[in-house]
Formats: sequence, structure tokens, C-alpha cells
Amino acid sequence: MISIKMRRIAASTLIGTLGFVSQTGAQVHLHADYPIQPVAFTQVQVMDNFWAPKIRTNAEVTIPYTLDQCKRTGRIDNFLAAAGKKKLNKLTEYTFDDTDLYKIIEGASYGLQVKKNPELEKYLDTLINIIGDAQERDGYLYTFRSAKMEKPHNWIGSKRWEKEEDLSHELYNSGHLFESAVAHYQATGKKTLLNIAIKNADLLVKTFGYGKEEKFPGHQIIETGLTKLYRVTGKKEYLDLAKFFLDLRGTPGHLNHEYSQAHKKVTDQHEAVGHAVRATYMYTGMADVAALTGNKEYLKAIDDIWEDVVDKKLYITGGIGATGAGEAFGKPYDLPNMSAYAETCAAIANVYWNSRMFLLHGDSRYIDVMERTLYNGLLSGVSLSGDRFFYPNPLASMGQHQRSAWFGCACCISNMTRFLPSMPGYVYAQNKNDLFVNLFVGSKSSVKLPAGTIGITQMTNYPWDGKNEITIDPAKSTAFALHIRIPGWSVNKPVPGTLYLDTDANANPVKILLNGKAVTYKMDKGYAVIDRTWKKGDKLSFELPMEIKKLMANQQVSADKDRFALQRGPLVYCLEGPDNKDAAVMNIVVKKEEPIQAVYREELLNGVMTLQMKGSATKRQLNSSELVKTEQPVTAIPYYAWANRGASEMEVWIPYEESAAKPMPAPTIASKSKVSGSIGNKRMLKGLNDQYEPQDSRDASATYLHWWPKKNSQEYVQYDFDKETTVSESSVYWYDDGPFGGCRIPASWKLLYKKGDEWVPVTTIKADPIAKDKYNTIKFEPVTTSALKLEIQQPVEHSAGLHEWSVK
Ligand SMILES: [Zn+2]
Repeated sequence: MISIKMRRIAASTLIGTLGFVSQTGAQVHLHADYPIQPVAFTQVQVMDNFWAPKIRTNAEVTIPYTLDQCKRTGRIDNFLAAAGKKKLNKLTEYTFDDTDLYKIIEGASYGLQVKKNPELEKYLDTLINIIGDAQERDGYLYTFRSAKMEKPHNWIGSKRWEKEEDLSHELYNSGHLFESAVAHYQATGKKTLLNIAIKNADLLVKTFGYGKEEKFPGHQIIETGLTKLYRVTGKKEYLDLAKFFLDLRGTPGHLNHEYSQAHKKVTDQHEAVGHAVRATYMYTGMADVAALTGNKEYLKAIDDIWEDVVDKKLYITGGIGATGAGEAFGKPYDLPNMSAYAETCAAIANVYWNSRMFLLHGDSRYIDVMERTLYNGLLSGVSLSGDRFFYPNPLASMGQHQRSAWFGCACCISNMTRFLPSMPGYVYAQNKNDLFVNLFVGSKSSVKLPAGTIGITQMTNYPWDGKNEITIDPAKSTAFALHIRIPGWSVNKPVPGTLYLDTDANANPVKILLNGKAVTYKMDKGYAVIDRTWKKGDKLSFELPMEIKKLMANQQVSADKDRFALQRGPLVYCLEGPDNKDAAVMNIVVKKEEPIQAVYREELLNGVMTLQMKGSATKRQLNSSELVKTEQPVTAIPYYAWANRGASEMEVWIPYEESAAKPMPAPTIASKSKVSGSIGNKRMLKGLNDQYEPQDSRDASATYLHWWPKKNSQEYVQYDFDKETTVSESSVYWYDDGPFGGCRIPASWKLLYKKGDEWVPVTTIKADPIAKDKYNTIKFEPVTTSALKLEIQQPVEHSAGLHEWSVK
């Protein structure tokens, strides 16, 4: 039986339970839900030195900062314009910009539930009023249409829903509205935003369905939004609509793009493809609907897709979505490091999805993936200061990647804002009288089990230290089973599947003491299970082995060939410029068997455990292919903390073979020259004489220079020599990312030398024709000069670019 009466969910049932008690006291039942339920973040008070400061920074810096950005960038004005309260010439850039405000309200609401902030709560009320004013009378809420601009955005179509399967994002906006509304309602008890959401959802129920408007969302999120709204209201139509949106995908007569996971019916999908955030939100929605309806076909599909991801498409940082082309999953094992996309939103979605998979299956391997993502590829998305952000999270950098204060498409920023305060909700879970300890976080909690209310405290300095002391405080002696997760990384299984391997010998079982005495436990699905009658003050202590691991990638991952990645506990490490000699890391080689020490540095990056080792720096030399090697100390820092000290080189996968390193350039005429050109980007200019050999013209892992999006113009690069030099030969390697990219080999080029104050063309003896994938060499009559200039005529319809330019 399902009551459709609205009720406020107790804080401990954030994602839902089998039985709710309404505010009027009436018992309400949903048919079914996840067998395992998370312990809500409001029940978990984090007091450690790792997460607590980050959650505080989110509340004190990120939320006010992002709210202010919403105002400055015109996102709030969009709503005012839609309400007819402000006249604008132009709205913001994207039709989904409404969702940034929703997501930040969601994050702020989570924050309010933990710490009262009347001023913020009042401001949220103001914003919610503005949102309500922008809603049309029948519940439609989409500022880009309601604002009735003279020149409407070309994604919105001529009428409602017309371009929904493509790019209008009307249902995407609704999905985030629902998620935000549920959070705000649970945090404050106010129904203001919830009523706006319900009015919108009711319009969708009326509008969409078989025989009515048959459209699915071009960008998923509404599925989880609707299931949340269903749990709060008990209105089964919302759950049915979520299922309708899923089942319609891949049916004939629709925009059946792989990009938006509509190439097949969702139940026929068994591999992760297309836009990674869309995909992973969808898998999360499928898990929700499977849990709520018992649909086995959905389950089979997402189980298969999950295997596909962990076996072939997961970065060691837990990032997903390898390619920037379509912000998408790449081919199996195609996991490039420098061009890794690994969008912050995709990492957040990966946490949502894996936590749902755990709630369905009760297996710790899902938490292994979730923890890996959380501590690495997700956390890297925000700076230590809380106001600088990454959209892609690469695993290597020549210094071209820097955090930004904002993005035109701000999805990752608002997503991070809403995710961080909800993090304590992933520490524990429960199923009847089974209590799961999933994450190790210094915290104090209270959990309601059928057997009684249990206080549970973790004292730990995780992730720096593997020691943990868990105190159990039942109100009275209570029998229940405590499931302590034994992380995969602690038993030589860093990731489920065969993508990343720990080559160390077998690990010892973790020893658990109860009140100082060794306790026997049985292992079940990756958990140490201690099933007994617990009394007040029972103390469990154990130590997870924080050994430093050198992990290897599956041989099919060519990007990681002859390299290892360092991991200690849940943290993946990287080398970064500021900690290493000459601010260089790409030239470093560390032997496979090199011993490594962990050294905690209080003053560095808000306090981090560094890894110290010996390595060698490699350098090319003139007239010999052999590298010069110099021993030097090498320091690694946790990956999440990189890019907090300005632009620099960074590398997660460290070469143990010289052939994998990128040596420092030999002292050639070009490498000693001062480089300039008709482009201001110093990093790109640096690419010209770095002697990094591209594999082919489109190789995006090597550094290159390009003028995209400028077309048809004349451009130049210039070498100023350190002294007058006689030269007679020059070679150029063009960048060309055709047929999909915007760069092609140039229409023409010429070489000039400096004679007094003038530029004079060289006299060609022999010149290669313009061609890609190789050096184009020009031999000319020797000139003695202080500078050379390369003039490039770009193609009419494309830009041009260069990998290398050498001079003899
Ligand atoms: Zn994003």
C-alpha cells in the first residue's frame, strides 16, 4: 500500500526506507527499496583532520562563493527575466544554467542541517521565491523559454520538449530541481521548494507517457530526481515516470545516439559508452528503479556495465570518461594520462553509482571503487582553498592545466558544492541488525537498528594512518553484526577486476582486537563480520597496513607501459614540479625495486603524507642517442592535492624504464633559443623546442602549439638565438588533428632570417612538401643570423599547429 500523503522523512532515512512514519504519525509503506540503507549524513558527525576541514571550507568558502558567482554571472537574472521582473538583452550561455542554482541550494541545505545559519537560510528563501516566480502557472519551469527572448537560444526549439532528446535540457533542469527540493525540505522542513518541484513533476506526469508526449531526456538526472521525490511523497506516478523515461531510450523513432545512451534499450546495454556523466547518472537511476521495483533486467544491465568499467575504463584515480571528444567513455583500455578527461561530475556520478551498487549487493568491492574515486579523482576537483576548480582531472601535465575560478559551463563546480557536505552519508550503512562500516573517518554517530540505538565512534587519523579505534555504545547490551570493510588495497586487490595489479606478495589478514584481545571474525563479501552482543564501551581496534604500493596497469593500457603508480592506503600519489629538482617531473625515472619512505609534512598543502625516494633525471645529449642520467631525490604528494601551487608539471604514472620518460632537451640551437610568436601561451611556445617526439601529427599527449580557433590568418613563431649562429637546415613537425579536430597542415609556410632590422627569406636548396605525421625539412643556403622566423599561412577553413621546430 502506498499512501500519497506527504510526509517529512526522518533524517535517518535520507535515501528511503521500507517504512516511513508521516508527520501525522501514519505509517506509510513503499513496496520495496534498497535492501541496505545508508546511515544519513546528519547522523554522522565528522571530527577528523581530513574531511572535517574540507567540509568546513565548503560551507565557509565554496557555498558563499558559488552563490555569489550565480549572481554575478546572471544565473539569478535568468529567473528574474523568466518571471518578467527584469528585462535582459541576453541570458547566460547554457540552457542548463538553472541547475547551478539548484545544486548550490542543495549543498547549502545539506550544510544547514549540520550547522544552523539563519542568514543563509533566509537567503535561500529569497532565491526560492525567485525560482517560484519564474515557474509558469501549469508548473513548467525553464527560464530559457519563459524569458521569451527576442533571439531564443537555439537549443530550446520552437515549443516545449521539442528538442528535449537533443540539447534543450528541460528535463535535466527538472531533475536537479527535484534533488535540490528534497534536500532543502529534509534540511529545513520547509515545503517551499518542494512544492515548486511537485508542481513541475505533476506537469511532467500529465505530459509524458505512452500515447502522450513520448520523449526521453537528452541528459539524464531526472530519473534519480523522480525516485527521490517518490520517496518523499509516496506518489507512485513519479517512479513510473522515471521508468518510462528509461524504457523509452533506444526504441525506434527517437534520437538514438550512443552519446546519450539511447542507441539501445537500457536493458540491452552491457558496456559503458557515450557521455560519461549522462551514462553514470542513468546507471544510478536504473539502480534506484531496480531497487524500488525489483526489476531484474535493469540489474543485469548495470552489473555488466559495472564490470566493463572496472575492467577496462577506470582510471587509477577512480576517474571515468577518458576522452574529451564528447566528454565520453573511451575504448577499452584507452586511458591516456595527459589528455584524460575524467570530469569532476563523472567522478561524483561514479560515487553515486557505486554506493547504489553496494546498497543493492552488499559487496565491499563497490565501496573500493567509491573510496578510490572519493579520495582521488573527485577530491582533485576542488582546490584546498575551496574556490578554484577542475573540470577535467588529468593524470599528467606539462603545466597546461590550471584550476579555474569559474567555467561558462559550471556543472562541476556546483556539483562539487552539493556533494562535499553529503560525504558523511557514505561512512555507514545498515540492513536490519547488520551495521556496515564502509569508510574510515574520525567521527561520532548514532544509528537506529531494529535491536536498538547504537552510538558508534571512530578514532582514526585515516588516510595518513591505518590505526582505528571503534567504540560501540548501545543504549543497553544489544546483539547485532558489525561489518568492518577490509579495503581491497589492503589485501593486494586495489581495484576489482584486472585493470590494476598489486605485484606484492600476499597480505596478512587484518588483526582485530576487541577490548584488547584478538577476536575471530568471518569474512563475508569483503567485510570482517563480528556478530555478538555488544555492551556499552566495547572497543575494537585494528590497523590497516599502510604499505606503499607500486601498482601496475594491465598491459593493454599502452599509456601506462613501463610505469608504476604509487598508492598508500586509499591515496594515489603523483609527482609535481614544486617538490622536485628544476620543477621537472616528466624526465624522472624511478627503479621498480626502489625503497620508498613515507614522511608526513605538516606545513605542506594543509598537511600531507609525502613519499620520498631516489630516482634519476634524464637528459638528451648532442650527437648521441644515449641519455645523461643524474641521481636526485624524488618526492610524491597525494594526487588530490596537486595544482594548488600554480601551474607545473605533474605525473601519476612514474616511468621505471628510461624509454617511458620524457628527457630534458639536449642543448641544441632551438632549445637554447628564446621562443616567441603570434600567440601568448608560454606553455605552447615551450612545446616547440622541447624535443618530445610526437607519435604522429594528431598525438595530443605530446605538447604542441596551435592557433585554433583562428582560421585563414597568417601566423608566426620565432627563435632568437643566444648569439649569432650559422644555420642551413630546419625541420617542422605539424600538428593536425583531422578529420574531427580543427587543425590541419598549413596552406603554405616560409622561413625568414634576421638581417639587421629586416626579415629576409632564406634561399631554399631543397624543401620537403607539406605533409603530416613526419618532419618537413628545408635545406637552405647558410646564413649567419641572430633569429629565425617561421611564417605560416593557415588553411581557409581550419587552423594550423606545430609539434616541434628544429634548426641546424
Ligand atoms: Zn561537470
